[in-house]
Amino acid sequence: MRFASILHDGAPMAVAIDGDQAVPLTGIAELGTMTPLSLLRYPSLDRASALPSADLLRRPVVPCPGKIICVGLNYAAHIEETKREPSAYPVLFTKFATTLAGPFDAIPLPPEPEAIDYEGELTVVIGERARRVPRDRALDHVAGYTLANDVSMRDYQYKTHQWLQGKAWDASTPVGPDLVTLDEISEPLTLKTFVNGVKVQESSTELLIFDVPTLVSTVSEFATLEPGDLILTGTPGGVGFRREPPLLLGDGDEVVVEMEQVGRIENRCFAERAR
Ligand code: MG
Repeated sequence: MRFASILHDGAPMAVAIDGDQAVPLTGIAELGTMTPLSLLRYPSLDRASALPSADLLRRPVVPCPGKIICVGLNYAAHIEETKREPSAYPVLFTKFATTLAGPFDAIPLPPEPEAIDYEGELTVVIGERARRVPRDRALDHVAGYTLANDVSMRDYQYKTHQWLQGKAWDASTPVGPDLVTLDEISEPLTLKTFVNGVKVQESSTELLIFDVPTLVSTVSEFATLEPGDLILTGTPGGVGFRREPPLLLGDGDEVVVEMEQVGRIENRCFAERAR
């Protein structure tokens, strides 16, 4: 099944996407801690309140995750272009819920950073609590997949060896559009990113250095993962900052991240004035 978090007449609601209908989950305002896999498998649906699924106002698929874990340098082609060495352990960093944006929201380009880049990424939504979960049981704790654009302020990212200040700007990370449960998906999956209609990234989940079960198992060793937590699995090669000449995001640019079976997010960039 596919699920989403929307705003309807100003009210937040979680819905199941059923063809051209969006069917509210009874009494559930958004996907997250209140929508574990056990609920998503047998959701209580308010069919009498179904809405047309087109033109819904989409929120981040999980608007307020308890944790957002991001993986860096998880494809060989991206490691190569950044001229870094592969790591034996996943490179991990975090974002905040305030960093997220809806899958079709405009992305603000703040005035301070000078090098703003795209990163299309497969994103994992946790479905059941996980602590010290072995790799072979890790997928039992995954609700499904979605997509993200880990928009990165490169000049800020590389101010120090920690990346947080380049990765956690407000409303910089669109995520969605749907949470697609794993039973709807057959891997491998192909990820593509487009800037103004030109394909800039294409890779397969087969090429992940640390695959989804490994990431869930690894993170769960030190932190309890809860329903709604997100893991952004890393971006493939082709980022703009490492191109010659660089391809940086500017006012009016449109970025699309898509993956067959999972969906497509589409965001226009706009120059934000400092407040
Ligand atoms: Mg990334």
